Amino acid sequence: MKIKRVTVTPIAFRDPPLLNASGIHEPYALRSIIEIESDNGYIGLGESYGDAPALAIQEALKSELIGLDPFNLNHLREVVKSVVAKHRPASLAGAELAPGSHASKAVSNAYSAFEVAFLDLQARSLNLPLVDLLGGRCRDEVPFSAYLFFKYAQHIDSPYAPDSWGEALSEAQIVAQAKRMIDENGFQSIKLKAGALDPEHEVACIKALKKAFPDCPLRIDPNGNWSLETAIRMAELLGDDLQYYEDPTPGLDGMSELHKRTGLPLATNMVVTDFDEFRRSVELNSVQIVLADHHYWGGLRDTVALAKMCDVWGLGVSMHSNSHLAISLMAMAHVAAATPNLDYACDTHYPWQEPDEEVIKGGKLKIVNGAVQINKTPGLGLELDYDQLGKLHEQFLSCGIRSRDDVKQMRKYKPDWTQVKPRF
Ligand SMILES: [Mg+2]
Repeated sequence: MKIKRVTVTPIAFRDPPLLNASGIHEPYALRSIIEIESDNGYIGLGESYGDAPALAIQEALKSELIGLDPFNLNHLREVVKSVVAKHRPASLAGAELAPGSHASKAVSNAYSAFEVAFLDLQARSLNLPLVDLLGGRCRDEVPFSAYLFFKYAQHIDSPYAPDSWGEALSEAQIVAQAKRMIDENGFQSIKLKAGALDPEHEVACIKALKKAFPDCPLRIDPNGNWSLETAIRMAELLGDDLQYYEDPTPGLDGMSELHKRTGLPLATNMVVTDFDEFRRSVELNSVQIVLADHHYWGGLRDTVALAKMCDVWGLGVSMHSNSHLAISLMAMAHVAAATPNLDYACDTHYPWQEPDEEVIKGGKLKIVNGAVQINKTPGLGLELDYDQLGKLHEQFLSCGIRSRDDVKQMRKYKPDWTQVKPRF
């Protein structure tokens, strides 16, 4: 079997005005949809970053993959390395919140973008679900958590009508957001994206969630936007309300000190983003839970390896998410299903995406009882809806956004806004 066609389609979909440590989401999120077709008629799908530098590498790789054997992933990695070496991508704004878009991750994220599609193609040609190529399923359903955000009611100068979620700034509004998200998806744990408003207020929102959902494990993620002192002070206020404390303060040293001072389990998708940082984190005991993300950890098989490393070193495993559609969701779900030591419900932005903006046949995937069901059909079990793909590609062409920049977007609301970390 040889690869005869590679297609990379950049897309843009509506993204709500969600607040975070850097600023606020722009009106559109960017992704790329990848198709790999073999000479015997199978098509494998992938979804990855759609920022300009990531797209440039994906575009440059397309012609280099023609004629490759989709089972030879070592060959794929060598080709990716040589193309990335020629490109030397610039670093990106927004890379802190989306570690995969950082220049140092160019090889692992470009490799991952195509590895998922290669694995989907392999699995389809063998008539097996993709999870069977990752060691086999440990579970049929993968749990995800409700991912709450502080948000405005609508974007400034919005190019489209406001979303149906409304404003969420107060304790009552955050509890209402959680209630709707749980009613619609059955989530059994809750994460609050923080680092955006006054820390005491964000902790008060966790207290309100605790009161409203007493049996639901809770997490807070200030994206490294709290100083060590603030993170310790908030830990005292939080007491034992949290399942884990995600990236409250920046840096491996800061997280190490915070754990020493509070004893709280710390999770990260910011200070452990590759195997070198993993090694240093183990030396410092900086984090106790690693939030994996195949988009920048070097694909599904390296994510399995990461989970094994976590097992060896006694660390917990869960999963990080950026704005994404169904192909990424199913890739995340398949690798999570193949991870014996998946200790916590995974993160996903998926409920924030609009129902009319999915690129797969049948529309948005259902999350039931807080979980995604793993298909028994071949590969990821997804087929592209080419009308929808075309629509979202047109939106990419017309939206004017080419790289994520939450700081620039926030300046439209607050002209003196700057990137400061930690801000509190
Ligand atoms: Mg995080």
